[in-house]
Amino acid sequence: MNKHLAIYPGSFDPITNGHFDIIRRGLRSFDHVCVAVAYNAQKPSGLFTPDERVEMLHEVTGEFGDSVSVDKFHGLLVDYVARRGAATIIRGLRAVADFDYEFQLALMNRHLNANVETVFLMADAEYLYTSATLVKEVAALGGDISKQVPESVARRLKEKFGASQ
Ligand code: ADP
Repeated sequence: MNKHLAIYPGSFDPITNGHFDIIRRGLRSFDHVCVAVAYNAQKPSGLFTPDERVEMLHEVTGEFGDSVSVDKFHGLLVDYVARRGAATIIRGLRAVADFDYEFQLALMNRHLNANVETVFLMADAEYLYTSATLVKEVAALGGDISKQVPESVARRLKEKFGASQ
């Protein structure tokens, strides 16, 4: 089992500055963080395709060099983590609102594979209210999301919603 590697799973539709901050913090404890985009090929959902999300993650995490890799997966997270030979899942916590769901998820994952540990990291308070869902809603209505997402992502959101503004 590779104890140097942590998997940071999520939908990343798209990556926000909150996600980025978690990746950066994860690298303080792990040599390598793999950001893994979860998708369901049978039931596609979201604004960006899994490949577009991966592309944006590549662009944004490029500055970390080989320390960060980007992947996508479907199926059970614990199976993916085991396939990668990792022992740790990173999840980010914002306010109390995240706790209930994240707690359930971590316990379910532990039930499914007791060898995999979930660690929680807190993003900077600045990103407490940043969520990909809210960012998309605001961007769709032409609001300013430049503080919430990296520049390249803000550009992509503009492209997506440009016609409807
Ligand atoms: P979102 O909840 O924004 O749609 P994801 O489902 O992709 O994002 O979330 C992946 C992980 O990142 C989850 O553990 C989520 O709680 C965490 N996360 C998302 N946004 C933030 C943020 N602003 N600060 C800290 N953690 C975050």
